[in-house]
Amino acid sequence: MIRLRIALAKGRLYQPSVERFTRAGAAPAGDAGRRLLIPSSDPAIEFLVVKPGDVPVYVESGAADLGVTGTDVLRESGADVLEPLELGFGACRLVVASPAAAPYPELPGGITARVATKYPRLAQSHFAIAGRPVDIIQVNGSVEVAPLLNLSHWIVDLVDTGNTLRANGLVERETILCCGAVLVANRASQKLKLDAYLGLMARLALGEPWSRA
Ligand code: AMP
Repeated sequence: MIRLRIALAKGRLYQPSVERFTRAGAAPAGDAGRRLLIPSSDPAIEFLVVKPGDVPVYVESGAADLGVTGTDVLRESGADVLEPLELGFGACRLVVASPAAAPYPELPGGITARVATKYPRLAQSHFAIAGRPVDIIQVNGSVEVAPLLNLSHWIVDLVDTGNTLRANGLVERETILCCGAVLVANRASQKLKLDAYLGLMARLALGEPWSRA
């Protein structure tokens, strides 16, 4: 009897998510490997492992009851889900960056800046709110190389240590959003499975190292 299906994102957030659920008494049984549905040490909980961008889709639709995703991906998706818990890992910033030697924010000749990003909605709305027209170029990876290759003038991307920006001759110009991992929940399933939902929430909070003192 599976009560809760939880979507986990592959990639950076996967290992910290596994550790957090393990402390909460729901350790995924084995590695993701090729399997997409993984049982856990709690018979009432199973995990679904998907690409980060798909977590909001699975949870909003109800295909998963809960999920772990970054607020960058969540805001970009615009998904209508509950956000009951910040998880305290995966901290990073979504920033505008441009080549260190190039003027910012004005470009020579007053031309419209081209901005390469994996986050077209967030980037578009940031510049629209600021009243600065830009042309957004959507890419799916290696964003930092775009200005070097003249694909774009600027980029909008995630920054953690800043090493990748520096290595590519870019500097941070503006912060758009501070991001981190959050637990998200399907609105209907939160009501229909309230007991299981509240029980898990309490265990996730209890699993926090600070709560054991
Ligand atoms: P860094 O060099 O530490 O600033 O990391 C920057 C690179 O890691 C960029 O390519 C980002 O897209 C990626 N990155 C940084 N933090 C995260 C995160 N929390 N989730 C996903 N990707 C990230």
